[in-house]
Amino acid sequence: MDRISPVRWLSSLGAPMVVGMSTIAIVLGAVVMLRHGRAVELAFLFPPGLASVLVWRGYVKERRQREQLDLLLASLRETTTSQLEMAIHQLLRIARRLHHAEYAELVILPSEPEEPFLICSSGLRGDTLHRPEKPSEADAAVLEIARRAGPTPTIVEGERGAPGLVLAERGLRDAIVGAVAGDERPLGALVVGDCMSDGATFDSDDLAVFATFVGHVSVVLENGRLGQSLEQLAELKEQLRHQAFHDSLTGLPNRVLFTESVARALDGVGPDTPVPSVLFLDLDDFKVVNDTWGHAAGDELLVHAADRLRRAVRSSDMPARLGGDEFAVLLTEGGMGAARDAAERIADAFDTPFSVHDRTFAVRPSIGIAVGQRGVTAEQLLRNADVAMYAAKADEDVQVALYEAETHAAARRRRELALELDGALGRFEIEVHFQPVVSLVSGVIEAFEALVRWAHPVHGLMSPGDFLPIADNRQMAAIGKRVVAEACRHASLWHEAVGGTRRVGIWVNLSAIELTSDHLVQDIRSALERTRLDPGLLTVEITESSVIKGEEFAIRKMRDLRELGVRVAIDDFGTGYSSLSRLGEFPLDVLKIPQPFVDRLVDADADVSLVDAILRLAGSLGLGAVAEGVEREVQADLLRELGCGLGQGYLYAPALDGDFVLRLLRSGITLPAPHGFRSAPPVGAQARDERRVA
Ligand code: C2E
Ligand code: CA
Ligand code: CA
Repeated sequence: MDRISPVRWLSSLGAPMVVGMSTIAIVLGAVVMLRHGRAVELAFLFPPGLASVLVWRGYVKERRQREQLDLLLASLRETTTSQLEMAIHQLLRIARRLHHAEYAELVILPSEPEEPFLICSSGLRGDTLHRPEKPSEADAAVLEIARRAGPTPTIVEGERGAPGLVLAERGLRDAIVGAVAGDERPLGALVVGDCMSDGATFDSDDLAVFATFVGHVSVVLENGRLGQSLEQLAELKEQLRHQAFHDSLTGLPNRVLFTESVARALDGVGPDTPVPSVLFLDLDDFKVVNDTWGHAAGDELLVHAADRLRRAVRSSDMPARLGGDEFAVLLTEGGMGAARDAAERIADAFDTPFSVHDRTFAVRPSIGIAVGQRGVTAEQLLRNADVAMYAAKADEDVQVALYEAETHAAARRRRELALELDGALGRFEIEVHFQPVVSLVSGVIEAFEALVRWAHPVHGLMSPGDFLPIADNRQMAAIGKRVVAEACRHASLWHEAVGGTRRVGIWVNLSAIELTSDHLVQDIRSALERTRLDPGLLTVEITESSVIKGEEFAIRKMRDLRELGVRVAIDDFGTGYSSLSRLGEFPLDVLKIPQPFVDRLVDADADVSLVDAILRLAGSLGLGAVAEGVEREVQADLLRELGCGLGQGYLYAPALDGDFVLRLLRSGITLPAPHGFRSAPPVGAQARDERRVA
């Protein structure tokens, strides 16, 4: 291959690449639809497919006039380059969609030493492209990882070394990196980072899809190879088709194929024909194995589990892996009796513990059964079996449960909401609102507490009490990460808005789950770095009970956070069975006085002893104090008299939308309701208050 500059070879493949890309987009679109069981909508891809073919034929004809065109192309280089940029970004967006990823990046090597690198990325904050002379340390690390990985892409995790560098600079938790290899030389590397919805991390399925995809990216990027690449597209289609229907780890049919088979079985149901039924299995304690002994052990366990499942069912039944530790079986006949028998055989098959990596693990499935009937869709039948499984899982004494519409109505609603929650994160329905934390002395807003909301398309704005209890650990972790990121992003905007010496803090609630996460400190550090927020402005709120759950571990996390410069508050202080005696040993900055205690401050003669005791305790330990749920003027007066510096509650404001907060801060308003808004005191007075409050 001639050695030509990257800009030139990229420019010269402008048109073919756009055609290639749209063809890939169409094929991948088809695969994604098939994966999600939306075969009917494939028809919509026909017009763009036809258009692609027509465009391609035009291009072949055009190629004959290549020599004349070369001259023209040279003069049009600038415009084609920008078209190419669009094409590359389109490619990156496809990569993100394929992997449900927040981020994708392509690092392209120069073909001549004096040419620049080309680095394109696509993420939640938009597309970027730059052409540095030298790759940054983190980009060099990407190329190094890709070079070492060779033809197989690799999952990048951890805080140390090249992986740590790659992730930290981009603010990613994990990523897949793969080499983009040309025929004669390496072309660069592709990065896909931060899985958003499907699971907390990337898995072997992602690696398989990535390998196929990056292989094709190489072909598309290679100059003059488009003709061949179109031929390979047919092969690629076959390959992706198989991947689209089977689970790469266990070889079992996947959710797409399973759902289609259930739909076919239901289609045939008549008055006298056998009804199909579905078993839904979830492996109890699988997550513990995975988290404690690593993904390799988890994967091996899943392979063994799949084998046992295969052997436990009849040859006419169809076992499948739906994802994670969820399996299902379709029985096309035999009704309820056959389904119960199958469930029993499967339960027996899991009685013997598994041996993996020289260890034994007792892992048992919770099984839900749903029997089909006319008019029920495949999705409904699966959902019913899932709801029954959920009920079995919730009851320690029950291993197999049968779906019954009435008894499971409430469970069903909860389960449906829990399942919707995954999509909600992807659709950005999880929002953060902000309640002002106000100086009880001056009325100046000192900080905001971030409170999560679900902007549900049907139920409207939902409070955390309506959906946090149904979220599983993975979802809680994802919600927490979103809240931290959003809170830091808004706080940094506020910082710009108020300017000068004024400091507006941001307070974020951490769940017990987040406190046990290995990613917590790194996630918070990345969020702070990405938004350039002063760590001193961030306070995390944790409840007593979540500290007590994993005391040593939690205390270590609190220390790590404080080392970052982040402050730590105890939320709802005094409502848990706190080991008050040990409070002095906890790495803490603030106590939050819960609303029920503030509620007692009803009038001037109220019993103030409890609140007074907490404030004295805080004072003696050198901690700040915030009173929550301040609704009435008399409460604010008493709190002020008792020496409480900060308060929040409906007396001042409820949780507010982020844009509104920005306007509020720009206006410089203070919140001493109910007498209406007062204007901000002079800067000197404000600084005095801050000192007193701190
Ligand atoms: P919390 O941390 O104690 O938050 C205070 C709750 O009291 C908020 O309810 C707030 O809207 C409400 N509130 C504030 N002022 C008043 C008042 O004057 N009167 C009354 N009656 N209520 C007031 P919200 O937003 O429904 O949150 C409920 C709980 O959900 C929070 O209690 C917190 O434990 C949890 N939560 C909220 N957001 C998050 C989050 O992002 N992550 C985690 N892990 N938990 C969160
Ligand atoms: Ca709180
Ligand atoms: Ca609270």
